[in-house]
Amino acid sequence: MKQEFIDKYDTFLFDCDGVLWLGTQPIVGAIEVVEQLLAHKKQVLFVTNNSTKSREQYAKKFAQLGFKGVTPDNIFGSAYATAVYLKQVRNISKAFVIGESGLQSELESEGITVLGGADPALDRPIAPEDYDQIRPDPTIEAVVSGLDHKFNYLKIAHAQAHLEQDSTLFVATNIDSTFPTNGRLFPGAGTIAAALSCCSGRTPMTMGKPSPQMMDAIKAKTHFDPNRALMIGDRLNTDIEFGNEGGLSTLLVLSGVATKEQAEAAVELQKPDYIVSSIADLL
Ligand code: PLP
Ligand code: CA
Repeated sequence: MKQEFIDKYDTFLFDCDGVLWLGTQPIVGAIEVVEQLLAHKKQVLFVTNNSTKSREQYAKKFAQLGFKGVTPDNIFGSAYATAVYLKQVRNISKAFVIGESGLQSELESEGITVLGGADPALDRPIAPEDYDQIRPDPTIEAVVSGLDHKFNYLKIAHAQAHLEQDSTLFVATNIDSTFPTNGRLFPGAGTIAAALSCCSGRTPMTMGKPSPQMMDAIKAKTHFDPNRALMIGDRLNTDIEFGNEGGLSTLLVLSGVATKEQAEAAVELQKPDYIVSSIADLL
């Protein structure tokens, strides 16, 4: 690990996809970088906008890919940040959720009752009798929108009905427009939030990077010093903005979404302090 980084920082925050791995393939050097930082007794945190997995599910992914010593306590996902915000800041106890099992389990761990989510009863086309039954429910205090590989019209119709109530909070786990898989970009969770915005006429609060809700969730658990912290990411409008906004130093890797040209043309808040081709450059 380069001495410059060891001397300057006590805490290293890693975005996951695009920095440590691409889909299911570790990026060359990533396992070694994490290992060396832990050997130097650095605080190493993992911050992902992927809301489909809980922290426990993510810890298993780290272990399966060969990363050692990564526990759920070091992992901060947008599903977790959403659950913490809804329960601890807004005291929400019931939500309608578009999202997968990881999001549902993080919400339930905070004591929030989930309708929708991974419920297979909603995995079907809308039926004629549904039109009468889909109504706003005053006990639903929030609609949560995350990536759902089984997203469909029935789910969006339920969400729209609940969002008709001004009192229902509308939150998106993250608004990534895309994420890289199998060498190309696929639609991200922002696509689903945008569909909900379109039919409800409402704009969601965002929980993942670059939102301060994610930073608050991390700080509440780790109390790290931003002046001695480096945020490493592959996206300018999520990772780099998140780090810059939080007063951290920022490093962009070119192994994921953003290109060097985009980084050089970026607006001030999205300009990284360092640019490297991949995490292996830190070795
Ligand atoms: N959202 C989804 C559904 C994803 O699968 C991914 C990456 O795998 C992301 C967001 C972006 O995650 P990260 O913040 O780790 O790059
Ligand atoms: Ca990423």
